[in-house]
Amino acid sequence: MTNAALDELILEQIHTEEDFAADEHCQWETCQDTATHNLICPVCSSKELLCTPHAVMIQNARIGEVLVFNCSCDHRVLRTKCSVEPK
Ligand SMILES: [Zn+2]
Ligand SMILES: [Zn+2]
Repeated sequence: MTNAALDELILEQIHTEEDFAADEHCQWETCQDTATHNLICPVCSSKELLCTPHAVMIQNARIGEVLVFNCSCDHRVLRTKCSVEPK
């Protein structure tokens, strides 16, 4: 394979990854915003995608509020027990 062909292949891979990242959207109910954070289940460490406003909402959750991991493990947990990390 020539160097030029290799460069092209690498560029193509980078491009594909960018496209994939752009497609990831928040998994909160019907939210379609771009995901910027992972929400982590305190029971099993499953991750779900969150946009920035929803990540802030989880971080500011009040004691007693419940959250369901409906896109991954189905655990029903207190919002204050969940951790949020940047993707
Ligand atoms: Zn879980
Ligand atoms: Zn969202």
